[in-house]
Order: sequence, then C-alpha cells, then structure tokens
Amino acid sequence: MSKIEIPENNPVQTRNKSATPSVQSFGTRDATNYYQAWVAKTAKQPMGLETVDLGPLGAEDVEVAVEHCGLCHSDLSVLNNDWGTSQYPAILGHEVTGRVMALGPNAKGLKVGQRVGIGWISGSCMHCRQCLSGNHNLCPEAQLTIFGHRGGFATHIRAHWAWTIPLPEKLDFAEAGPLLCGGVTVFAPLTMYAKPTSRVGIIGIGGLGHMAVKFAAAYGCDVTAFTSSENKFDEAKGFGANHVVSSKDSAAIRKLNDSFDLLINTVNARLDWDAIIGALAPNGRLHVVGAVPEPIPVAAFSLISQQRSVSGSPAGSPVAIETMLDFAARHGVAPQTEHFPMSRINEAFARLQSGKVRYRIVLDADF
Ligand SMILES: [Zn+2]
Ligand SMILES: [Zn+2]
Repeated sequence: MSKIEIPENNPVQTRNKSATPSVQSFGTRDATNYYQAWVAKTAKQPMGLETVDLGPLGAEDVEVAVEHCGLCHSDLSVLNNDWGTSQYPAILGHEVTGRVMALGPNAKGLKVGQRVGIGWISGSCMHCRQCLSGNHNLCPEAQLTIFGHRGGFATHIRAHWAWTIPLPEKLDFAEAGPLLCGGVTVFAPLTMYAKPTSRVGIIGIGGLGHMAVKFAAAYGCDVTAFTSSENKFDEAKGFGANHVVSSKDSAAIRKLNDSFDLLINTVNARLDWDAIIGALAPNGRLHVVGAVPEPIPVAAFSLISQQRSVSGSPAGSPVAIETMLDFAARHGVAPQTEHFPMSRINEAFARLQSGKVRYRIVLDADF
C-alpha cells in the first residue's frame, strides 16, 4: 500500500493538532492522522485500498469511525465521471453511520462514542443567509462529501459538527445509511409540499423511490407508485403503495388527469412529461430529485390554467435530516438493503451498475 495525499477543501480547518501517525489508533480519542480508504484514482477503474494522510482535525470538525456506508447512485456517477465534474483521486461514500472518535475544540453538541450519520453534505459556511435561516443545504459554500472531500468508504470520515447528525437509539444503525442521502432527499419535499390527506405519486421505484413510498405511506398519504418494471408492482404495494401504474403507459397516466397534489420524480430517465404534468391536480406540484439529463419540457398553459408548479431540491438541511431520522425510527421506515463487506466494494459497484440492486446497497466496514 502506498501513502497518498488527498486535499480536502473543508471550509473550516484551522487547528493544527498533532497526533501520533498510526492506522491502529481507532480506539483513542485523538484524531487519527493516517487512515485507510478505498480510493478511486481515475474514472471507471476499480478502487484500491490506500493509506491516506488525513492532516490535522479542523477546530469545528468531528472525526467518525465508519461502521457502515450506503452506496448511492451518485457514488457510481462520480466514479464514472458521468457529470464531468469528478476530481481524482476520490474517496466516495456519503451515507455513513459510525461512532464519534474525536472532536475539534469548537465542535458542538456531540460526544465521543456517540452514534452519528453523515450524508451528501459534510459542511457549510454557517454564516450565510441560507445557513442562518436553517436551509444549510442551499449554502453556496456547502461542502459535498465526495467532491474535494474524503468520503465514507474508509476507516474514518470527518465532517463539520452541524452536519454530523446524531442517530436515534431506536434506529437500526446497520440499515440507516441510505436514509442520510436518499431518505432525506425524498422526505424533505414530502414534508414541504404534502399533507397526510394528499394524493402523492412516486415516479421510479428504486433506491430513492422505494423509501419515498414508505415515507409517504407512513405519513398517511394516498400513494401511487409509478414504475417501468412490472415485476416491481407487488413489491411497491408491499412498501405501502395503494396503487401502482406503469410509467411507460401514457394512456394509464392520462386516465389519472388532475389527480395528484404532489408527484416526486426519482428517476433520471425520459418520461411522458406532458401526461405526467397533466396528472397533477389544481395546485399540484411535480418535484424533481432524480437528475434527468435532458430538459423537462413544460407547456406554460398546463401550469397556468391549473396553477401547477415544477420544482426540485437537493438532499436536506441538518434539521430536516434529524426530523426524518426521528420519523423513520418512530414509524419503522427503513430501506430494503443488500449488504457487502467493504472489502468487496468493487463488486458492489458492479452490482449497482448492473441495475439489479433491490433496493439499496450498504457496505459494512471490515478493515
Ligand atoms: Zn446520494
Ligand atoms: Zn452558508
């Protein structure tokens, strides 16, 4: 194994703390200088295990020993450089559950040994208008966990204290990872735009969509699942959908004209957008969380005449994540997962790439 340095442009990193470099210091309260991580050195190539120099722990940062880390489709997109913005070497993984190992001197609200989670964002400026109004996920300086920052497919990860979220005791820690990115991404628009009496449609029953169906059902909504895979119809009902419709069947979608208060699109594929927007009730909203590569065509008149909206949102704020975790613990909402030991990370990525995952992969740390 070679030692490599991966720069981390964390917004707050001021303390120059020295600790004895040791990959065996996981059990101490001192920050670890060196740790092990699965590193992507270039696009579309298998990741390799490396020893990485962490550098000093930032004054407001928290060091977490990783126990589990979900594998999100965004990790695959970054590995494959699908968005053209990947930086290598990269340490992926942004659905971490683990235990606090060390706290910077100005880190607040957490204790060493506490179980915590880290998701899509691992830091924000804490002083802009968005941060101060509770919308930290909209901070222009938000530090994404897997861009210019070391992610969770590693023995350790660091994040700002505000983005290191305590996990409720009732939550199954081994299964909670996918809630921290995919879970809050679909939960946040539900709480913003739906009521328990709403008719809600979830488009795409995959990693995000199956959690969305579970959340919307637990919230009390009348839930319709839209999926292109007929073999997922029964499973979608098992997750709590009251109705299931093929997302490829334009005629079936058109029969639902003026029905939905909220449609959440979780897929990154082209759909019959005209039929889908037509399925919105007056005042209804199409909310996009799936990264559809092409522009979504919207006829102005179909919005104006029924006062409909089209919107989108990124992940969620720290408070949204905490609220979602409390809700998930109270209602027993958990993702359906496949587990791999982290040492089989490349096999897990290949399985995600194959499209066969039901419905979310979690990697268990086994360094
Ligand atoms: Zn994600
Ligand atoms: Zn900010």
